[in-house]
Amino acid sequence: MKVLVINCGSSSLKYQLIDSESEKVLAKGLCERIGIDGRLTYQPEGGEKEVTDTAMPTHKEAIQLVLDALVNEKTGAIASLKEIDAVGHRIVHGGEKFAGSAVINDEMIAAVEECSALAPLHNPANLIGIRACQDLMPGVPMVGVFDTAFHQTMPKKAYLYGLPRKYYTEYGVRKYGFHGTSHSFVSKEAAKFLGLDLNNSKIIVAHLGNGSSISAVLNGKSVDTSMGLTPLAGLVMGTRCGDIDPSIVEFIANKENKSVSEVLNILNKESGVFGLSDGLSSDFRDLGEGAANGNEAAQDALDVFAYRVAATIGSYVAAMNGVDAIAFTAGIGENDKDTRKAIVDYLGYLGVTLDEEKNGLRGENVVISTEDSKVKVAVIPTNEELMICRETVALVG
Ligand code: ADP
Repeated sequence: MKVLVINCGSSSLKYQLIDSESEKVLAKGLCERIGIDGRLTYQPEGGEKEVTDTAMPTHKEAIQLVLDALVNEKTGAIASLKEIDAVGHRIVHGGEKFAGSAVINDEMIAAVEECSALAPLHNPANLIGIRACQDLMPGVPMVGVFDTAFHQTMPKKAYLYGLPRKYYTEYGVRKYGFHGTSHSFVSKEAAKFLGLDLNNSKIIVAHLGNGSSISAVLNGKSVDTSMGLTPLAGLVMGTRCGDIDPSIVEFIANKENKSVSEVLNILNKESGVFGLSDGLSSDFRDLGEGAANGNEAAQDALDVFAYRVAATIGSYVAAMNGVDAIAFTAGIGENDKDTRKAIVDYLGYLGVTLDEEKNGLRGENVVISTEDSKVKVAVIPTNEELMICRETVALVG
């Protein structure tokens, strides 16, 4: 099957056309600045990347441009739109309604709309993308794949907050967790790669990117994860603060005469390693360079990040009463050997030893612990688009 994978944001849209049999990407790209001016990037397999500035007032025009590019006579990846067998859409929040991917129909869309209160910035954008595809590709089966679904297996003790119960029962305030497509993909890949039986395994996945989260995956199911009601919780991230004492919100609001939403904006966009490094950067390459040049704030940011990751890993070892494997993934997890080392250096008590040479390797799946390490540590590149393709085929293939 040829599956078009769509990841729709409020003013951007990423896409990949994937052949599900070979799992090859036939074409990929993105639309940016939708509703502003518009820029289309398109790259066929093995071909040059083309960037075109072109008007896209709404997501519908953006998707039309993607479809035109896919069937372009010279550079198109397919001869006709009839070759697109299905569309897989990323959807951010499925609340408690979706514990897995779902075929898109009117009832399903109504349920996603109900979850929009929990992700007011993301779900409406995802729905716009779905509706535009339905208009332009009538009759083509479509599937929604949720960031939250994989974590729906968490037990109550992991997802309930210590708040008045009515906030959960009436408003759905609880831990949901995100990056579920990545945690699901990487835990399965890690088990396969390391020769573990997924159904009888304890795996911790550290998805460390601009947004970061960790999950505890017991026998193939998520039993805890570090993000919460929203992706602001848990680890210190690029610009998000992660877990903090909630009283800080009022404290800063009073000190700086700000509203709650202004403070939350700071917690989302000006905090994390960016804030800790005094605004130097949210990018770990810049922080590494800064720290190497003696910038104390950059070093602090790196230290806090690694410490929090290691402490969270420790708590998930406790939650699962052990761990067989730890998998690093996403931008930092896949590329930053110094941060991986800083994290793994805390894990000696688990009998983990790092193979420094292997830790320097880049690319595909790689084990970075020594042969005699009691817990296997691996780098497993994530591939959320491929996971969305697989889920789509599983439901409509
Ligand atoms: P997103 O959450 O936006 O998908 P990514 O998973 O792509 O984020 O991660 C992006 C981050 O990965 C960058 O901000 C940077 O901190 C880090 N990163 C990417 N490449 C490297 C590298 N070679 N060395 C260190 N850090 C890197």
